[in-house]
Amino acid sequence: MPKKIVILTGAGISAESGIKTFRDPDGLWEGHRPEEVATPEAFRRDPEMVYRFYNARRNRLQSGRIEPNPAHLALVRLEQAIGDSFLLVTQNVDNLHERAGTKRIIHMHGELMKKRCQYCSTISTYDRDLTTEDQCSSCGETGGMRPHIVWFGEMPFELDRIWSEVADCEVFAAIGTSGVVEPAASLVHEARRTGADTFCFSLDSPENRGAFDNFIEGKAGETVPPWVDQFIASAS
Ligand code: NAD
Ligand code: ZN
Repeated sequence: MPKKIVILTGAGISAESGIKTFRDPDGLWEGHRPEEVATPEAFRRDPEMVYRFYNARRNRLQSGRIEPNPAHLALVRLEQAIGDSFLLVTQNVDNLHERAGTKRIIHMHGELMKKRCQYCSTISTYDRDLTTEDQCSSCGETGGMRPHIVWFGEMPFELDRIWSEVADCEVFAAIGTSGVVEPAASLVHEARRTGADTFCFSLDSPENRGAFDNFIEGKAGETVPPWVDQFIASAS
């Protein structure tokens, strides 16, 4: 049986695909302070502005200019090699892992390509911009659609499953995540506590760097593929 691996990815793995990370040097996220757009309060105060922000990000993701990069593709090779022993937990709301071919994935912070009805909680994909006029095809209510995104102050999805998978893994690798957004930043502690070998891939030293056994500095598109290939070679 191959070793169980849990991979945690963050905005940094998609940076080389042309999607901005959260914490740019100017502290802004695509020109906005994150708390201006990524909170339930912001959505209550100014839904049009929040819709504009997410519609723009979603349209850009589908523009044909954004493609999976070698790090996304390497994780697909890893999954194909070890099958059910693989789990990818992503904080990213883009769909680049799926577009690369990843199957075993949890989007703990939601998905840009999905909307959710605030009246009946139905989740669906959609192909037009979100507006305050949208009607839910499930319950028929109008104006209750929101991006299927976990905002600041909201609970990430599937935490129980993520926690138990991390407690059960032999290898835990965090790729392109700053180690400040909880509870994702604490998963490495659980992995260490239960004896996993831990790896961190990042462009610069993240907040929780000291919690990892191994730190691999550099661009994910350059550092992750050789690590994966070496792992597959040693496992076979
Ligand atoms: P973050 O922006 O806080 O940190 C990104 C980390 O990646 C940094 O430590 C940076 O040094 C590193 N990094 C940047 N470029 C890299 C590269 N080419 N290779 C390797 N590492 C690189 O991101 P986070 O920790 O994921 O937290 C941000 C939150 O914002 C998440 O909850 C996420 O949902 C959301 N977000 C998602 C996207 C997306 O879906 N692509 C983009 C921006 C923000
Ligand atoms: Zn509904």
